[in-house]
Amino acid sequence: MPKPGLDKVDKILEKDVAILEGMDISGHWNRMFEQRVVWDYSTEILERITSLSGGESLGWCYQCGKCVPVCPVDMVGDYGPRKIYRKVQLGIDLFHDPDLWLCTTCMNCLRVCPKEVNMIEIMPAAREVAVQDGNVPPELQKVFENTAKYGNPMGESPRKRAEWVKEAGVPVTILPMTPRPVDVLWYVGSYPSYHPRGKDAARAMARVFYALGVDYAILGHEEKEDGDSIRLAGEKGLFEMLAESNIRTFQKYSFNRIVVTGPHEYNAFKNLYPQYGGAFEILHYTQFLAPMLPQLQKMFVKELPYTVTFHDPCYLGRHNGEYDAPRKLLQAIPGIRLVEMPRCRENGYCCGGGGGGMWLDGFSRDFIRERLSDRRVKEAVEVGAEILAVCCPYEVSRFEDSVKATGNEGKLLVRDIIELIDEAMGSPKTR
Ligand code: SF4
Ligand code: SF4
Repeated sequence: MPKPGLDKVDKILEKDVAILEGMDISGHWNRMFEQRVVWDYSTEILERITSLSGGESLGWCYQCGKCVPVCPVDMVGDYGPRKIYRKVQLGIDLFHDPDLWLCTTCMNCLRVCPKEVNMIEIMPAAREVAVQDGNVPPELQKVFENTAKYGNPMGESPRKRAEWVKEAGVPVTILPMTPRPVDVLWYVGSYPSYHPRGKDAARAMARVFYALGVDYAILGHEEKEDGDSIRLAGEKGLFEMLAESNIRTFQKYSFNRIVVTGPHEYNAFKNLYPQYGGAFEILHYTQFLAPMLPQLQKMFVKELPYTVTFHDPCYLGRHNGEYDAPRKLLQAIPGIRLVEMPRCRENGYCCGGGGGGMWLDGFSRDFIRERLSDRRVKEAVEVGAEILAVCCPYEVSRFEDSVKATGNEGKLLVRDIIELIDEAMGSPKTR
């Protein structure tokens, strides 16, 4: 029996080639090649990455390219998961390649990736191997050593951790010196404890808490770096030591909740410390203060007639979904006009400080055209902002450097939201 339709076939030339009305309908051209054997490239590195715990999803990339236009590093260089995957496929050794250190783990690629290729897990897993092999940029290695030895990335003395308190102008309880039950344990963080501009924000926070009558205390010299960025930069063992040490310290004292200054400790304490036995109620300071706005607004005594734009920190916004609390606070300050940059909220542009980037500016310089923070400062100027408001302790120093580097001194100020609140409450300007 001829197959249906085959009676219409003009001729069958060979076994698999059929011609209908002069047209080859067999599709034999689709089957005319031997399957290619790919032996130009070694798959060893790709297999090594995908066999790591956390590295598996690199193998799921199907090269759709959605991640590249949203990657902040690609905007100033040549990057993004699609490109990383392709380069690894073509044989680069990611464990020894500068690309390993450029990802800031900002999560914008994961937001749009249909295959859930997760650079936030892939990069720390691959970096962990590099760290174990001793293949780490020297400036990052120094940060690991400082943190292991002194409990902070700057290598400052733990005894000086609470020195900023002396110039706060209000009393601050330091629990190891005056142990007592408190409502709020304020985890200050390394940059607010030691960096000159971070200390400005810490002092402003102390004044605001005091004015609001918050029953709070800090840990002073017993506080250590939270370790989140250390982990993302590949030193998981050190992160675990810091987590265990901080949890032991927290458990010594009686409090209801922990309020943190920065998004990185927020991420670490909320999402990771519970795996190490430390589950506490955690609030970023903007989340703690936003419900107290009716009280705060009665205390504002000064108008701040500024056009302000807000930079969403990746680890408060994309990683933890908080976009509104900082904006509510800013909008409540009398006189402030809030304008948004085009890249904001879910699509906020990374400052370059996450995932260890805070300590890799010197290293990255050779591989990107422009610092991410420089790019962000230009975006703030383009929307007419006079103040770039932040609520992550990495950002004040990064952006202030960038304001100078991009020639925008006198045009744009960088302020932590808490400094603006403090100023509106009548405290002297911090700068
Ligand atoms: S969006 Fe995901 S699947 Fe598409 S190219 Fe990027 S990593 Fe690959
Ligand atoms: S996490 Fe951010 S920096 Fe890293 S590849 Fe994805 S988009 Fe780029």
